[in-house]
Amino acid sequence: MIIAENLNIYYDSYKAIEDVTFELNTGETLLLLGPNGAGKTTLLRTIAGLHEEYKGKLLVFGKPPVKARDVISYVPQSHSLNERVPLKAIEVVAMGALYKKGLVHFSIPKEILKESEKALEFVGLRRIRDKRFAELSGGQKQRVLLARALVSKPKLLLLDEPLSALDPSARVEVVSVIAKIKHETGITVLITTHDPNPLTEIGDKIMLINRRLIAFGTPEDVLKDEIITKVYGPLS
Ligand code: ATP
Repeated sequence: MIIAENLNIYYDSYKAIEDVTFELNTGETLLLLGPNGAGKTTLLRTIAGLHEEYKGKLLVFGKPPVKARDVISYVPQSHSLNERVPLKAIEVVAMGALYKKGLVHFSIPKEILKESEKALEFVGLRRIRDKRFAELSGGQKQRVLLARALVSKPKLLLLDEPLSALDPSARVEVVSVIAKIKHETGITVLITTHDPNPLTEIGDKIMLINRRLIAFGTPEDVLKDEIITKVYGPLS
């Protein structure tokens, strides 16, 4: 589970997140919502243990995030893979396992290859295992990155804008993989998004932030006109 109490997150003297308190139970899926610059990525990266400039209490499965990194997988908004390196889909997935084990290999060990195939199967992409990552569609790339995040068997999965820049049919595919993760794995999932609509079925909780916590609760509690208007202005 995740516990945040009076959490303040900084970039030098700038406070990007102010006094945020919430708890998320193991196995729950949280949608993190807020306008541009609200601090969604900052909060996600801090929970991932990638940004350590914070004050207040923050525990991920009982530990400060940096000490829990072996059970956390983080999928950034835009992947940083150099597409000129001609990696196959299966190799991209295997990188997730190799990285977590601190291994650098020129050939992928059999066991990791097997796990990577399973992860590709889970996201419905086993058939493209040998295709170059760079040649895949946007939706397929996102699903391969989900497989890469899953192959290390995390307890917490952090997804930054997993649906951005995808066409509607690719969005449906990615949402269905996230739903499968939620229903079949018991992994706790945090997802930042600008548009909660495609994800509300999956979200157990929604957190709305704009530097400060505006609302936290079930989708029915949070997605009310008067709360949304407070942050985004009057709905047209
Ligand atoms: P978006 O929806 O546009 O991606 P966001 O809600 O994810 O926005 P963040 O990217 O977390 O917001 O940014 C929150 C605030 O922190 C912004 O004011 C941003 O300018 C600032 N910020 C983000 N990264 C840095 C950084 N590396 N150094 C300094 N300030 C930063």
